[in-house]
Amino acid sequence: MQKEETDAINLTLRFGEGKYYWINTFGCQMNEHDSEVMAALIESLGFQPASTLEEANLVIINTCAVRKKPEDKVASMLGKLDALKKEKDELIIAVGGCMTQQEDLAVYIKKRFNQVDLVFGTHALPRLPELLDRARRQKEIILDIKEDYCEREGLPVNRATSYHAWLPIIYGCNNYCAYCVVPFVRGRERSREYDAIVVEASALVHQGYREITLLGQNVNSYGQDLPEKPGFASLLGKLDQIDGLSRIRFMTSHPKDLSLELIQTVARGEKICEHFHLPAQSGSNRILEKMNRRYSREQYLELVQAIKENIPEVSITSDIIVGFPGEREDDFAATLDLVKQARFDSAFAFIYSPRRGTKAEKLPDYTTYEEKEKRLQALNKIQQQISLEENEKLVNKTLEVLVEGTSKSNPELQTGRLRNNKLVHFAGSDRLTGKLIGVRITEARTWNLFGASEGEPY
Ligand code: SAH
Ligand code: SF4
Repeated sequence: MQKEETDAINLTLRFGEGKYYWINTFGCQMNEHDSEVMAALIESLGFQPASTLEEANLVIINTCAVRKKPEDKVASMLGKLDALKKEKDELIIAVGGCMTQQEDLAVYIKKRFNQVDLVFGTHALPRLPELLDRARRQKEIILDIKEDYCEREGLPVNRATSYHAWLPIIYGCNNYCAYCVVPFVRGRERSREYDAIVVEASALVHQGYREITLLGQNVNSYGQDLPEKPGFASLLGKLDQIDGLSRIRFMTSHPKDLSLELIQTVARGEKICEHFHLPAQSGSNRILEKMNRRYSREQYLELVQAIKENIPEVSITSDIIVGFPGEREDDFAATLDLVKQARFDSAFAFIYSPRRGTKAEKLPDYTTYEEKEKRLQALNKIQQQISLEENEKLVNKTLEVLVEGTSKSNPELQTGRLRNNKLVHFAGSDRLTGKLIGVRITEARTWNLFGASEGEPY
């Protein structure tokens, strides 16, 4: 192809020149990272970030389908955008992410919100530039929800910060927990090549990133679909050797695949942070079985004990589902008991939300929503007390903090993260952002800590 021709093509592809985009992200860290990729793809078309939604010429909603609540929020956001588009005809509205990967929902969005221009599923992400190009020319709405696992390697990323990077290592999930929609909307497990991850991590360090978080629905099954089956522990050990990197995090760990080898790798690792997010979901064996979690409460508690014994400074966080179909009082009591024994540093508790197409959707459920709300409150009360007590153990200690910038709730304070993933607020300059410093913990609260900067770089 002649140079003039390629230039001409590039010119038409940069149809975002002089225009602004806005991305609204719902849901988990994987979605946050996907939005960083979307931002980079859009900027390659010439678009720049808008400072307000109203300023935008292109709005992308990256949706979450894991529970009904985020879906409802998306619907209300789309209602607002419908009104905005009536005032601003050239506005492009695109809806992507996990909700749209479900055919019935994608079709619903198409019918119900007729101002939407593009609906694209999780697998269509690499095709975003060409889809947007079609969307701006075509009057009818475009729907791309094919399940064809488009190659994601080598896509650009526009990272939200200059010190912390999300690094996906495995996409999809094979576990089919009975309540969960993720395997349906993210597809089968696909591990990234071992070397590609190591090269990307090294490149990030070269660019100045201090902390990386390895992402996957179940990082512990990393590599099982690759020819040489490299394990997750081996990958972590390798990344720990990268000079200049300060911190490695990972999430989420599925208890059924968490090995002693991995616990020991974390214990030995210099850069691997002392934190496990280890969703228990329930403390009742009867419910765990119905959930298809493939571990017992006894096995779960043994894991917690092994982690705490091997890594004294560790923090363990968890997810719990309250009111799974058929959960009786005695099952819930078993969950409360597990929470008391495990002593999580924090736990996210959710009321079970029926999801289309999952096994649990068909299970009979006799517990009222009010009763489930009561259980949730009882659980949160106990967990909050434990969180506070665990945080109090840190008072008077001087700990390593990676500074994340000015506190969102108090502009006078800076916020940083401990190795155990807890947040600390302290007085200091915003020039510290991205730096590792020592902070002495002075006060513990349920959700966070307060401290005094020791000044010196750590
Ligand atoms: N892959 C991760 C988590 C994925 S979803 C894991 O296996 O742990 C994040 C959390 O949302 C889950 O841990 C679970 O507690 C919650 N969740 C998922 N589906 C849910 C549903 N249908 N109702 C309520 N909570 C749900
Ligand atoms: Fe959902 Fe279970 Fe997979 Fe986690 S492991 S994403 S809860 S199916």
